[in-house]
Amino acid sequence: MIIVLAIDALEHTLVEEFNCSNLKQKYYGKTNISEYSEPRTMVLWSSFMTGKNMEKEILAKGDKEMWSTKIEIKETFFNIFKNPAIIDLPGFSYEKEQHEHERKLLKSYFAAGNDEEKNKIRNDYNNHAFEHHRKIKQKFKDTLSNDHDFVLGYFSVADVIGHLNFGNRVMMKMIYKDLDEIAGSIDQEYIVLSDHGMEKVGMFGDHSKYGFWSTVSNDLKNPKISDFANIIKEISDVKK
Ligand SMILES: [Zn+2]
Repeated sequence: MIIVLAIDALEHTLVEEFNCSNLKQKYYGKTNISEYSEPRTMVLWSSFMTGKNMEKEILAKGDKEMWSTKIEIKETFFNIFKNPAIIDLPGFSYEKEQHEHERKLLKSYFAAGNDEEKNKIRNDYNNHAFEHHRKIKQKFKDTLSNDHDFVLGYFSVADVIGHLNFGNRVMMKMIYKDLDEIAGSIDQEYIVLSDHGMEKVGMFGDHSKYGFWSTVSNDLKNPKISDFANIIKEISDVKK
């Protein structure tokens, strides 16, 4: 079984600061996403699964429609596997309603007129994201015990919570420790991959212009996110 722990907005600097050893593994580093005009979630994960730069194609859909992107399995490297399980990945198996509601709350947060209203919306937003996180965590655990040759679990919590709380170090540390525990609970080899990181803007967070990767067996240096289709194909060939 090949396992990918796909974490949105996992910031290299924080993985080091909080010393998340299961996220770091033996080899870890930044991905090179400099070919993209902006570090956009849907563009980057779409490029990951198809093995090519999908920026033009995704942006052509427009800001709202891009979130409905559903790439067919035959367009992705997932089709080299007999029984892949891809949990909640943007552009593929994303739980659209969950993530649409997140974006709606985020908008209403910034539109809110006073602090009291903002605090209430932030609470709803955080609770909604944590609830989803717990669900995905359980699903990932259950899926790993089933008979799959490829499992990808996508975790959005660091991105979603980070956007409104990146300046809250206690909260971010709790999330990184939790993600580190998820990685630590995997009893086989796995790859950790993130689309982009996050930088602090006051109490908020914005996407940083590099992603994160780690493996236990291979120094990938400074790969592009679109290189992982081939990297994973090669690992799968070796395992056959
Ligand atoms: Zn993202």
